[in-house]
Amino acid sequence: MAKVFIALGTNLGDRKKNIQDALSGLEKIEGLVIDKVSNFIETEPVDCPGPNFLNGVIKVTTSLSPKKILEELFGIEKSLGRKREFKNAPRTIDLDILLYDDKIINEPHLKVPHPLMMRRGFVMSPLLEIESEIIELVEFLFRSK
Ligand code: AMP
Repeated sequence: MAKVFIALGTNLGDRKKNIQDALSGLEKIEGLVIDKVSNFIETEPVDCPGPNFLNGVIKVTTSLSPKKILEELFGIEKSLGRKREFKNAPRTIDLDILLYDDKIINEPHLKVPHPLMMRRGFVMSPLLEIESEIIELVEFLFRSK
C-alpha cells in the first residue's frame, strides 16, 4: 500500500461544496482510503487571475498506481465541471498528486513530487498540518531530483 498526499484547490462557484463533492468522489475510488484531511484555508490566487481559493491537502492509503490515481483525479475534476479554458483559469476543483511514497516520477504528464509544492505555502501549510514529519522526506526528494 502506498502513502499518497493529494492537494485540493477551488476558486469557482460554491467552494465548500466543491471540496465536499471532491472528497465524496475520492471516497468512492476503489483501492483508495482517505486517512487524513487538513483544514481548508482561504488563499489569494498565485500565478492566475480570479477569486480567492480554498486549499487543503489529504493523505490517502492506496493500492493504485500513480497513473491510475491521476486518471481518477481527472475524472473527479471533470465530474465537477472543470473546464480548461486557459492555463490557470479559475477552477471548480484542482487535484494534484503531491507525493507518492518516496517515488520520484518524471513523466511528461506526471511529475512527483509536484514540482511547485515547496514554493507554495497554500500546499505546504496544510500538508505540514496533517503530517509535520513529512518535511524531511520532501526535502530529501527535492535534493535527489
Ligand atoms: P492543472 O492545471 O494543475 O490541473 O495541471 C494538470 C496537468 O498537470 C495535467 O496535464 C497533468 O498531467 C499534469 N501533472 C503533472 N504532474 C502532476 C501531478 N503531480 N499531479 C497532477 N497533475 C500533474
